[in-house]
Amino acid sequence: MDTASKSRMFEPLLQFSAEHRVKAQAEARALLFEKFPFGNGSDSDPLMQNVQAALSDASVAFRLSPVQRDVYYNDSGTAFVPYFIKKMLLRIKGRFVVRPGSVADLQAFVRYAATEQLSYTIRGAGTWPFGGAVPQNNDIILDLSHLDFFHLDRDARRLVVGAGTVFADVRKFLREQGFRLKQDITNPHSGTVCGWIATGGLGLGAFKYGHVRKSVQALLVITPEGDMRMLTPEDPDFEALFGSEGQIGIIAGAALDVLPESYISKPYAFSFDSAEEAQKFMQLVINWGLKPTSLLYFDPHYIAITYDIEKEKHTKKLNAALKNEDDFAIQRERHEL
Ligand SMILES: Cc1cc2nc3c(=O)[nH]c(=O)nc-3n(C[C@H](O)[C@H](O)[C@H](O)COP(=O)(O)OP(=O)(O)OC[C@H]3O[C@@H](n4cnc5c(N)ncnc54)[C@H](O)[C@@H]3O)c2cc1C
Repeated sequence: MDTASKSRMFEPLLQFSAEHRVKAQAEARALLFEKFPFGNGSDSDPLMQNVQAALSDASVAFRLSPVQRDVYYNDSGTAFVPYFIKKMLLRIKGRFVVRPGSVADLQAFVRYAATEQLSYTIRGAGTWPFGGAVPQNNDIILDLSHLDFFHLDRDARRLVVGAGTVFADVRKFLREQGFRLKQDITNPHSGTVCGWIATGGLGLGAFKYGHVRKSVQALLVITPEGDMRMLTPEDPDFEALFGSEGQIGIIAGAALDVLPESYISKPYAFSFDSAEEAQKFMQLVINWGLKPTSLLYFDPHYIAITYDIEKEKHTKKLNAALKNEDDFAIQRERHEL
């Protein structure tokens, strides 16, 4: 693919700006706190002022309130690590948050940070459970959530997403348009698409279509120096970005293959005496040349926990239905149990 075609692919993303949203949020905040004239602490941090000055009105920089600290100092795994262990081993602390509202501002921030030798932590949706999105040692937090752009090219069967676009949004949008992703994350509400490319990339659809890299037509990348690059599978650096966790650049956008939505779903469940038996079965599926979209393995422990959770939920619902003498709900919950 020539450079001109690559640039065109990401053109709408490069034009995207969150300025309108940022303005509306500022107005709503001003209205809400009309009677409480306190600042956001921005005046007390000259670095934050300098960063804000380097960016357009589409972007915001702010210091963390105690509630925001609870969010930004955790991810879906770190949140469950006992506080004293975290305190003993790490210094979880962020100086302030920068939330770019355009790719140009994202690039401007990275360039500024490179020049000033500032360290920062990249944060997508914070669903990766291993701490990569959690700031340490007073890092700046680079929050990508406002870069939640997506665009479908129906003819090319291609979806372009920004760095902050989450699966739940694109899945809903694609379904409305009669399309779907080839590969999808197992937890339907988890993560950004670009964060998935930067960390994992295996999920539903992987058995049939392979790792997500097989469906990525191009990546828009901001290098640690602040340069912008467009990489396609032919580029020697393309592969390295998958699973790179932000260490060699920020994935600012991705162009992915999509498929027409198919409403036919044929789930089959098999039970095995051991994990070895299940593995043998999977090998047979491969040998027979079968191509199910996904093969999911649930171990007995997982099934037992899920069963207990569901049982508790439906028992509660049944009790409520009995109390309300709701015959329809009683029947439904008895059936579920
Ligand atoms: C219940 C559950 C199910 C999951 N299922 C799957 C699954 O099926 N398959 C799978 O692979 N993973 C899975 N995950 C892991 C995780 O959700 C994904 O890896 C997710 O897509 C990460 O995206 P995020 O935006 O939340 O990244 P974050 O948690 O915000 O960040 C993760 C890491 O990537 C970096 N990063 C984030 N965005 C970018 C970017 N645009 N460019 C460069 N670096 C970036 C961060 O600095 C950090 O190091 C699951 C997680 C949960 C909690």
